[in-house]
Amino acid sequence: MIDLRSDTVTRPAAGMLAAMTSAPLGDDVYGEDPTVNRLEETVAGLLGHEAGLFTVTGSLANVLGVQGLVPRGGELISEASAHVVRAELGAHAAVSGITTRTWSAPAGQIDLEQIRALIAPDLGPYFVRTSAVSVENTHNFGGGAVQHGFDALADELDARGIPLHLDGARLWNAAVATGRTPASYASRAAAAGVCLSKGLGAPIGSVLVGSAELIREARVWRKRLGAGWRQAGLLAAAGLYALDHHIDRLADDHANARLIAGLLADAAPGSVKPDQVDTNIVVADLSVTGKSVAEVVTAAKEQNVLVGGVGATQLRIVTHLDASTTDCKHAAETLARILTT
Ligand SMILES: *Cc1c(COP(=O)(O)O)cnc(C)c1O
Repeated sequence: MIDLRSDTVTRPAAGMLAAMTSAPLGDDVYGEDPTVNRLEETVAGLLGHEAGLFTVTGSLANVLGVQGLVPRGGELISEASAHVVRAELGAHAAVSGITTRTWSAPAGQIDLEQIRALIAPDLGPYFVRTSAVSVENTHNFGGGAVQHGFDALADELDARGIPLHLDGARLWNAAVATGRTPASYASRAAAAGVCLSKGLGAPIGSVLVGSAELIREARVWRKRLGAGWRQAGLLAAAGLYALDHHIDRLADDHANARLIAGLLADAAPGSVKPDQVDTNIVVADLSVTGKSVAEVVTAAKEQNVLVGGVGATQLRIVTHLDASTTDCKHAAETLARILTT
């Protein structure tokens, strides 16, 4: 089976497992797990922040990060297909009492004009005030797109004194694709979350970074929500191993995604634009083929290729470290055959 549904499906290989089983451990609720502490310090350093907090998921990192910037009853602005508003089951409202308004743009891009129009200043006790803006880089449902307007938005928000939240689940991919450092993005945000369990290939875990004060409060809320953990160094060790071994190789995933996009574009012209594949996610629009997503997903599965769908017409294919170039080529040829017969 070649599984290209997501970059979350990777399994820890021998080197990572060895790092996990040899890691020094302690009770992280007491702050005594040396491997967790090292991971938190390492990621904070890589992202240009004072402190870090190891969390079980990226969703939790987002909930805690946004909550550190937006008070109860306050407003967060994000893109309409962002993970924070589409894929976290309303957590920011249900847990943190936060309201949201959204802009909508192709590939989930930053649209500064729309954001300017949405930002609500403090008008006293009459209207909700915008407390933060959240940006996803790369953008998941936007097809792994790198955010091109990131610096201009960060400058604008700095000038207005509004904090930026960065959902950097795939920030590593953005950095590798652009040649920028992760810190060049993350240090512009007041809170940023990164996943270790996506392209980096760790089994579990994300890290939230921010000021020492924001992280202190996030640590309290993590425990309050029942997500404090004990000898979590077992998992932090996988994250540290991933940071050492699996960042530069993301370029291979990006090349494989472009290879897939090229083969699909040849088979079904207009379904995908290979030059718009920035990183490791390919979104192919099947409306040009007359085939439904469900039909293509089922036919591919029968031929041992797993892919996913976004909405009614879009196929989503994600490359990762457990899918070689040969696997990706084989999967793309299988899909191309399905689309043309
Ligand atoms: C995967 C992902 C997350 C976090 O997902 P979890 O499954 O909660 O770890 C957050 N944001 C984006 C953009 C993602 O793709």
